[in-house]
Amino acid sequence: MFETEIQAKHVESAEEPLQDEVTADFFESMEAETAAFPRPNPIPVPIPRPWPLFQGSRFMIWKQDPTVTTLGRRLLYLPRRILNGPRDARINTVLPGTTPVNRSISGDFIFPPDTPEADCAHTFAVVRETLTLYERKGGGTAIPWAWNRNGNTDVLSVQPRGFNGANAYYSRNAKSLRFGYFRPRNSSQTVYTCRSLDIVAHETGHAILDGLKPGWLGYGNPPQTGGLHESFGDLTAIFLALSQLDQVEAVIALSRANLHNRNFLKRLAEQFGQSLGRSEGLRNADNDLKLSQVSNEVHAISKVFTGGIYDVLADIFNYERHRQRDTAGPARVLLEVSRQLSDLLLDALIQAPDTGATYADVVNRMLQISHANGEPAIYRTFIRNRFTYREVVVSPTPLTAMTQGQIDLDNPDFVEGEDLMELETAFPDHPSLVATQDRSGCCGTMQSPEYLQDQKVLDANLARLSKPGVVLDEESLLEDEMKHLAKSFK
Ligand SMILES: [Zn+2]
Repeated sequence: MFETEIQAKHVESAEEPLQDEVTADFFESMEAETAAFPRPNPIPVPIPRPWPLFQGSRFMIWKQDPTVTTLGRRLLYLPRRILNGPRDARINTVLPGTTPVNRSISGDFIFPPDTPEADCAHTFAVVRETLTLYERKGGGTAIPWAWNRNGNTDVLSVQPRGFNGANAYYSRNAKSLRFGYFRPRNSSQTVYTCRSLDIVAHETGHAILDGLKPGWLGYGNPPQTGGLHESFGDLTAIFLALSQLDQVEAVIALSRANLHNRNFLKRLAEQFGQSLGRSEGLRNADNDLKLSQVSNEVHAISKVFTGGIYDVLADIFNYERHRQRDTAGPARVLLEVSRQLSDLLLDALIQAPDTGATYADVVNRMLQISHANGEPAIYRTFIRNRFTYREVVVSPTPLTAMTQGQIDLDNPDFVEGEDLMELETAFPDHPSLVATQDRSGCCGTMQSPEYLQDQKVLDANLARLSKPGVVLDEESLLEDEMKHLAKSFK
């Protein structure tokens, strides 16, 4: 009915402003029609806001560390409830005389650099980001710390200035991460290891892997199991950097989208390395080392696995960059490829044996999970080739295409020979599979005496640690010896 009236009016007075009249007429007639109904008094309605409202805090973090000046510090937003400390349900910060660090009225933890408060904020934020990185893989399901069993919810205590020394470590017995500080020779500047994103991510990686695989930290495992722990720490630092959009952009620009070119990503713990006179950081993930080219020391062994995964990352990135060249920029591709590979690695580690896991165990799980996830066969070609080259597994076909640069990036099904899911271990008698662990070149975690105990003692201690609030002090390391002495001193 209204439409007919409007059309008629339009014909009658085409020169008059149509819209106003129609609107006025429309509401007049509506008022007449609805006058019989009572109306509530008008109340002011605020402009609708997005729902739900996320609680969150902002932190100032070092993107790499204070020596990587091209990156510096930046604001980081953590969309979760964070209390004074900083602390949340999983992580607490401890620095006597400084903590709890209070958040601002707007919920932020932003402090000038070179202050203890800034160190607390940075360290908490990086540990939290690292845990979140892997928890996202499981849709947000919490990854337990090693002692979080039988309902235990004890947090991980993070000590940004934990001790005076050029090291950092994860202590299961103390339920903590401790970061050292030191003054390098010929320098007036103190180096705080907690200011290195790589070092904080690396140590958090040890804590996360210990929660998933508590049987791997013990000294009684073969060197390769220790190598997986060290390598996971270094790879965690790389995956964390590549989970941050600005860092991904920076890597792409600095390396011209070739991960084998010079970039900060592959150089780990730059400031720490510099203090030791190493220009390439504490270690370099982009290496070509084979098992036969490294000593049997656990950290040396770990470089082989780290290098293999870094190569696979670069290979998959190249392939996906080529495939998506007209639809996505290289930064977006790298962000997604890194997430995909870190998810694959995490699943493979979880599915590997609970003790004595080897590189071949993890590589084979990666092949199987990649296939089950429906990833293209060329991904598995990269994995197989890179770990065959590293002397971890045996490829049933020669690596001709890889060594001669003939891998067909236009073919997602590219496989030389068969798409195998189970490869043989290259050297079953290799010392890294049978010898006792030498951890002398490792980080503080692997060198800590608390893991140099018999597996049965470690298991018993873990059962004690799963009681709420229980921590084991250094003295507990002497318990067995003291018992033995008590028997001798009759
Ligand atoms: Zn380590």
